[in-house]
Amino acid sequence: MTTPIRKKGRLSDAVQNIQPSGIRRFFDMASTMDNVISLGVGEPDFVTPWKVREASIDSMERGYTAYTANPGIYELREAISSYLDNQFSTPYDPETEIIVTVGASEAIDIAIRSTVNPGEEVVIIEPGFVSYAPIVSLAGGKPVSIGTKKENEFKVTKEELEAAITPNTKAVMLCFPNNPTGAVMTKEDLDPLVEVIEKHDLLVLSDEIYAELSYDQKHYSFARLPGMKERTILISGFSKAFAMTGWRLGFVCAPADITAAMLKIHQYGMMCASTPAQYGALEALRSGRDDVERMVTSYKQRRNYIVKSFAEIGLPCHVPGGAFYAFPSIEDTGMSSDAFAEGLLQEERVAVVPGNVFGEGGEGHIRCSYATSMESLETAVQRIGRFIKAHST
Ligand code: PMP
Repeated sequence: MTTPIRKKGRLSDAVQNIQPSGIRRFFDMASTMDNVISLGVGEPDFVTPWKVREASIDSMERGYTAYTANPGIYELREAISSYLDNQFSTPYDPETEIIVTVGASEAIDIAIRSTVNPGEEVVIIEPGFVSYAPIVSLAGGKPVSIGTKKENEFKVTKEELEAAITPNTKAVMLCFPNNPTGAVMTKEDLDPLVEVIEKHDLLVLSDEIYAELSYDQKHYSFARLPGMKERTILISGFSKAFAMTGWRLGFVCAPADITAAMLKIHQYGMMCASTPAQYGALEALRSGRDDVERMVTSYKQRRNYIVKSFAEIGLPCHVPGGAFYAFPSIEDTGMSSDAFAEGLLQEERVAVVPGNVFGEGGEGHIRCSYATSMESLETAVQRIGRFIKAHST
């Protein structure tokens, strides 16, 4: 007799209650078509700098193929510590306050799981990265959205934050520079939030993965604000600044008690991040500054081009101060963001992501990644312009 396969109740309620990412649908559609220009993917169009790849190859040639310490190789944690201090004036102790993770993705997961109890609320600033709300839900927490506004350049205000807080609020998830809006918040923009965070005794989960990709001023880390380091979990990684998405390497920094809690989840769930990837990342921090600067200069040129060109074709777009996304408004076309993105793909073979997938405040916009060649951007702009003309009433 064979064991009956369980048909009912195979899946957890938590996983059944979350939806697959809305971005995927467009990639799947685009992948069946020819001649598509993709402004859809959220990753650098550069290959990882050679020195970084070489260091990783070298580590394997030397036979460094075993597990590392759970929080990552010590030299790498030290290098992360100096990097954060030098670049963002936010020093962390490599011994007790830093964990090397499997991408910023794992950092987000362990930050949420180590701090949120079932029923506690996490305020999420939207439009925002698609993982936050599902991960909060999987942890048994309750995501509470704040929809930022284009009139405020998609920054969150003190009043909006205050209005979202209840007695159950545990933490606020911030992400600046932002995916998908490209919004940045300066020290002056962040300052007023401190009062609300202190008043309600909140934690801050600050995803600063796009910190290096800040075009108009140096990034200001949330943890640098007076009194905020004690309340902040800083999430970052190598994917964007060093063009290392496929390496799956990030890091998370927090006060020692929270780091110790996150380390328990990391050690049981992951053991450690990939060893060859850690050696590559060490080289990235040691010698990759010129490469970062070269890539940032190139993104900035493309940012300037896309903002100017969108204005010329009648697509209103606030100037994104960071990341590599433009988030223009398509409200004047009268189409929903889904209809616009689907129509643009079918009729003009340009893949963008509809703003509604990024949560509250995203409808009426599309996300266009400009991390692609100038030639592709020029053709994409022409095609989008033609699409808007054909649909203008
Ligand atoms: N946070 C944000 C805001 C992102 O856009 C991304 C990737 N698109 C991540 C985290 C995940 O990055 P990683 O590749 O380091 O997991």
